[in-house]
Amino acid sequence: MLRSDVRIGRIAGVPVYLNWTVVVLVWLLGSMFITRVLPDADPGLAPGARLVLGLAGAAAFVGSILAHEVGHAVMAKRGGVPVDSIRVWLFGGLAQLAGEARRPGIALRIAVAGPAVSLAVGFAAVGLEVLLDTWGVAPGLAAVASWLGRINLLLAALNLLPALPLDGGRVLEAALWWRWGDRDRAVRTAAGAGRVLGYGLVAVGAFVLLRGGGFGGLWLGLIGFFLASSARLEAEGHRARSALAGTTVGEVMSPVVPTVPSYLTVEEFLRDHVAHQPHATWTVRSWGGELEGVVSAARLAGLPTERRALVHLREVAVPIDQVPWARPDELVLDVLGRAADAAVLVVDVEQQQLRGMLSPADVHRAILQRAGAPRAPRSWSPVG
Ligand SMILES: [Zn+2]
Repeated sequence: MLRSDVRIGRIAGVPVYLNWTVVVLVWLLGSMFITRVLPDADPGLAPGARLVLGLAGAAAFVGSILAHEVGHAVMAKRGGVPVDSIRVWLFGGLAQLAGEARRPGIALRIAVAGPAVSLAVGFAAVGLEVLLDTWGVAPGLAAVASWLGRINLLLAALNLLPALPLDGGRVLEAALWWRWGDRDRAVRTAAGAGRVLGYGLVAVGAFVLLRGGGFGGLWLGLIGFFLASSARLEAEGHRARSALAGTTVGEVMSPVVPTVPSYLTVEEFLRDHVAHQPHATWTVRSWGGELEGVVSAARLAGLPTERRALVHLREVAVPIDQVPWARPDELVLDVLGRAADAAVLVVDVEQQQLRGMLSPADVHRAILQRAGAPRAPRSWSPVG
């Protein structure tokens, strides 16, 4: 979770975060409503009412993105897939699932739920516009409703393009999975469609740019590039997850846990230990040998150089009661969701013993061993 995300509460049991860029979104949309849409639709509207209506319209748009993600999240929970969080930022929303659907039918319902909500919101808003027009009242509100309705219908339609990482790509993936009974092949195909769509948009963008289309071409190209690279990440993420399926923590953890005394200063630690041993994460122990916490070299990088001689490891280590831990017989995939990008201590609960540590590097190595290195670019030479 990014630090610039603000938690606004829970919806359907899922924590909801707004990124600070949502302020930019509300400001951009709000000023569009206040300076262009509302003066056109209702020139007599008082400035105060224009301000309130414009900001409410912008907030309603953020709400409609949120509703789309809540649709995915509710369907996921119903299908037995835990949901970590819902985030909204400048370019949209994301319902972060902490697992994968076990059956194609569940995957299909999760994928369709978001666009279905957008369609419902879109039709409701267009319906409101039609009603207000018929009654001849509140033309400003009707204009805002019209914009909200159309944008939600457009977003639903674009989102249903059959290419990962769009929702339509997930629909395609679920359908192919159901048809072929082979999820890996379904993901590869849907991700391939994502790359085709992405690079297609890049090509169209370049064409528009060459024809003097300027900003619009650049924008299309950027979106295309973003789509193509997300599709690639999606396929790789799936490959990694299927490589780790059934693997336990004990099989891939490092049995050796490097330890340093907690009274060292950060400077001593970096100079005498990190410089000589390539460990990313260290446990920190007291004089008496008691485990006090965990410190990572990456975490210390943010500390100003002049403070390094003054601060002790005890003060910067993550306290032991906040460090994620796991049992050796747990599945790696279950533990990853809990630990995000930090190392996990592996503990034998019965014997009350530290057995090892599972770091992102261990997980990465395990994926490479099981799935092989990422495929090299295809060679076009006749002997390749
Ligand atoms: Zn969606």
